[in-house]
Amino acid sequence: MNEDDDAVRGELEDVYRRLDQEGLIFLAAGNISVRTGEGMLISPAGASARTITPASFVHARFDGSYDGDRRPSSEWSMHADIYRAYPEAQAIVHTHSDHCVALAATNEALPPFHYMVAAFGGNDVKCVPYVTYASAELGRAAVPALAGRSACLLGNHGMICHAPTLEKAFSAALRLEILCRQYICARQAGTVRLLSDEQMAIAVARYKSYG
Ligand SMILES: [Zn+2]
Repeated sequence: MNEDDDAVRGELEDVYRRLDQEGLIFLAAGNISVRTGEGMLISPAGASARTITPASFVHARFDGSYDGDRRPSSEWSMHADIYRAYPEAQAIVHTHSDHCVALAATNEALPPFHYMVAAFGGNDVKCVPYVTYASAELGRAAVPALAGRSACLLGNHGMICHAPTLEKAFSAALRLEILCRQYICARQAGTVRLLSDEQMAIAVARYKSYG
C-alpha cells in the first residue's frame, strides 16, 4: 500500500462517515468508490459507518475480481459500468437518501424546477425504471440515463452520481437530495412552474464555465 493509496483510503473513510452524518446512507444504504489505475477502490459489502476504516475499502477491477479478504459492495458492477462508459468519472457516490428515494418511487425525472438542476449537466435528472438491485442490468440501465449528466435517479431504489473528485461527488449527492426535497415541497405548495429550455440552457452554460 503506497502513500497515495493511504491518502485516497483516508478520504474515502472521511466521505463515507460524512454521508452517514448527513443522513444520506443510514443503515449502510449506499456505497462509494474512486477510480484507480486498474479499477476502483470501493466500500465493502456490509460496510457501516460504525466499523468502516481506511483499510476496509476494497480494490476491485471492472471484471469483478478484487484483492484481499473483504468482498466489494454488491453494487460494484454499477460503479464499473459508469467508470467504463464515462472517462471523466473519477469518483462515484450511490445513496438511498430519503427524498431521492421518494421521487424515484414515482419513476419521474427531477424536472427543471430550479436552476441548480443544471449543475447535473442538463435540464433534468433522469430516473431509470426499477431494475433488480445489485444486478448487472442495473449499471447497464443507469449508463444511458447519465449521458450528458452527472447523476440519475434509480427507480424504486435511490440515486447515483459521478464527479471528477470524491469531494465533488459527495457535494453532488447532498445537492441532489436537497433539490429532490425542495421539489417535493414545491409540489405540495402548488402547481410548479418549470424553467424553459432556454433558461436552463443558460444555467447549464454558466455551470460549465464557472462550476
Ligand atoms: Zn443501492
